[in-house]
Amino acid sequence: MTTNEHNELRELIELRIEFLQALINENIQSAGQIQPEQGWPLSPKEERQSVEEKVIETAQLEILELTQSLVWLETDQAGRCEQCGSPIDMYKLKSAPANRCCESCIEQKCIELACTEQTGEQ
Ligand SMILES: [Zn+2]
Repeated sequence: MTTNEHNELRELIELRIEFLQALINENIQSAGQIQPEQGWPLSPKEERQSVEEKVIETAQLEILELTQSLVWLETDQAGRCEQCGSPIDMYKLKSAPANRCCESCIEQKCIELACTEQTGEQ
C-alpha cells in the first residue's frame, strides 16, 4: 500500500465514522421524541424503539470495526487479509473500509454464515 492510498483510506474511514456518529445522534434524538416516558401503548413503543436501537447498534458495531481498521492501517499488516495475509484490492477497501479480509475469505465467511443460518432455521 502506498502512502497516498494509506492516507486516502484513513480519510475515508474517519469520514465514515463521523457520518455514523451523526446517525447515532439523530436516532437517539428521534427515539427520545417518539417515546414519551409514560402512557404509550406497550407494543408500538417497543416496535419503534427496536428500529432506532437497531440503527444505533449497527452503527456502533461499524464504528468499532472502522476504529480497528484505523489501527490496522498503522501496522505492517495494512492492506493484507486478516485471515490469509493476501493483499486486498484497493477498490475493495475503499468500497467497504470496515472490511479487513480478502475476497476469497469473505466468500468463505458468507458460505459459513449461510450454513449456520440454514441450520438455525431448521
Ligand atoms: Zn484472505
